[in-house]
Amino acid sequence: MKSFVHRGQITKVVFGTGTRARLADEVRALERGRALVLCTPGQTGQAREVGELLGPLTAGVFDQAAAHTPVAVTEKALTAVRAADADCLVSVGGGSTIGLGKALALRTGLPHLALPTTYAGSEMTPILGETQGGVKTTRRLPEILLDTVVYDVDLTLTLPPHVAAVSGLNAMAHAAEALYAQDGDPLAFLAAGEALDALAEALPAILRDPADTEARATALYGAWLAGTCLGTVGMALHHKVCHVLGGSFDLPHAQTHAVVLPHVIAYNAPAAAAAMARIGRALPGPDPAAAVFDFAGGVGAPRALRDLGMPESGIGKAADLIVSDGYWNPRPVHRDAVHDLLRRAWAGEPPARAVLGPSSDPMGARHA
Ligand code: NAD
Repeated sequence: MKSFVHRGQITKVVFGTGTRARLADEVRALERGRALVLCTPGQTGQAREVGELLGPLTAGVFDQAAAHTPVAVTEKALTAVRAADADCLVSVGGGSTIGLGKALALRTGLPHLALPTTYAGSEMTPILGETQGGVKTTRRLPEILLDTVVYDVDLTLTLPPHVAAVSGLNAMAHAAEALYAQDGDPLAFLAAGEALDALAEALPAILRDPADTEARATALYGAWLAGTCLGTVGMALHHKVCHVLGGSFDLPHAQTHAVVLPHVIAYNAPAAAAAMARIGRALPGPDPAAAVFDFAGGVGAPRALRDLGMPESGIGKAADLIVSDGYWNPRPVHRDAVHDLLRRAWAGEPPARAVLGPSSDPMGARHA
């Protein structure tokens, strides 16, 4: 029997090309008038352009957002919020900048708007991961959700194609795990399948022609759907593996997702028939894990954790950490199997053959 709980999103989403021109209206719609614009040092140009669009509604630009949302940066930004007398926050960037915006919104209660420029999806989630003293702490709270997200395809045109490819695979990982989520939700299943279709079509097209705005729009659309899935349902082994690897070895976020995904799909295949069938629709082939591996290679994604800086001696430690806290997964997580998965991913080998299980999932079966 079908049975589920669905929680609706409260974030207002505006999607299109040139939509940043509507940002001032969105700030006014929240009855605000002094926006502090946030970005990383590399995106100061884009943030200043957004500041100019906001005109008198701009209270300043804070350009020191950094990966993993360090608390020390947040504290510096809090001083900037107060000095500028800001009454709302506008994040212009990827997950790093949006993480800073979330950290500030949580501490100040200020409304938070974002113009996402990658496919990481943080803008659609109530999740915040922060680092302090080398320890990453993750919180999931409704007040972390953004007020308004303005997706403007134009802002993604500067994302280099190889960065777009790994960022897109990061989004595909959210979608893949949403298909077999413990708290499976029919809307998330539909969104995840559509996200996979969109990204499977768009990423190779962006590689062929980085100026293909249609493909850039399709990729951003897929990223929105995948981010919504990440914010709606729980993730599983793939996200646990990437969290441990990122935290333990400081590996780059999107690239790590790109390497690990085919291996986790192979691992979970016997326990997630409907999800595998849906992945197979987006990326046709007899073996969904091999199809994802081939797709990732085809768009130039890295294949080996060793190439991202993970030492071979770290495999055992990572396997221990991954199995230590009983994270939910459709297939029980055994240390030896995780060790084997990590060893393959470390060396850049193809994933194990996906053994497809019986179709017994009433949530996804109708849609697969
Ligand atoms: P990022 O935000 O760190 O961006 C990567 C680099 O690309 C940065 O230097 C950035 O300035 C640059 N960049 C971004 N967009 C660009 C563009 N359009 N043109 C040119 N350069 C551009 O990377 P990310 O992958 O978006 O985010 C990763 C971070 O987000 C990680 O810390 C991860 O943990 C976090 N994250 C959080 C969630 C969540 O729900 N909380 C979800 C996904 C990712």
